[in-house]
Amino acid sequence: MAKSNIEWTEMTWNPTTGCTKISDGCLFCYAEPLSLRLKSMGLPKYQNGFRLTLHPEELKRPYTWKKSRMVFVNSMSDLFHPEVPDEFIKAVFKVMNETPQHNYQILTKRSERLLQIAGELTWAENIWMGVTVENEKVTPRIADLLKTPAKTKFLSCEPLIGPVISLDKYISYIDWVIVGGESGAGARKMEKSWVDNILKICSENGTPFFFKQWGRKNSNVDNNDPTIESKNLYHAKGGCQLDGKVYREMPVIM
Ligand code: SF4
Repeated sequence: MAKSNIEWTEMTWNPTTGCTKISDGCLFCYAEPLSLRLKSMGLPKYQNGFRLTLHPEELKRPYTWKKSRMVFVNSMSDLFHPEVPDEFIKAVFKVMNETPQHNYQILTKRSERLLQIAGELTWAENIWMGVTVENEKVTPRIADLLKTPAKTKFLSCEPLIGPVISLDKYISYIDWVIVGGESGAGARKMEKSWVDNILKICSENGTPFFFKQWGRKNSNVDNNDPTIESKNLYHAKGGCQLDGKVYREMPVIM
């Protein structure tokens, strides 16, 4: 487990590493170059680079964490990748069920596989399940997510590369929405109107909204946004204010 710079979590836990690209949102996947860099640095866990690799030894770790944590599962992979055996997914869920002191955030782009296996998994309240929704084209992922028994369901609209027009159809069943723009070399621009639309739908439904980052400074319409500066408490890539406000809402944990 490693401390995370991702604003909406505390730690990452990667019982699998590596992946393959499946949708437009994967174009500048940060996990790929990072995996290759860690391989070149000689880290044994990344000796296969970005090739899907299981790490059964990681399954013991959560039992050793004393303090309660918010844990992003598989920041460097996708748990529902076709090369992850059903038995391994079940083993990861067993660990999460047996460590209720932690909250686990799982995010996938492979909602069809998620849906296929969801009925065979045990969904304790500490397991939050999310799908990435980078544009309208992939909104069927939301419909798949809604058919799972996960108690807390969330969307990560990052990198937001197009409008998500049909969100209002699903929003009353969603517990949390994260929005973020793409960052790094070649990053695609996020239009403010796309973000405004998601915020409006969330606000009307009372759904917690977390605006992570603009990603690129030139996506941010406010050049004076103080969170662009690295010294600012809420600093994020490209800044993270929306009409002068920072949105870092989280789901209500019962
Ligand atoms: S699904 Fe996620 S980890 Fe896999 S290639 Fe796409 S962005 Fe990267």
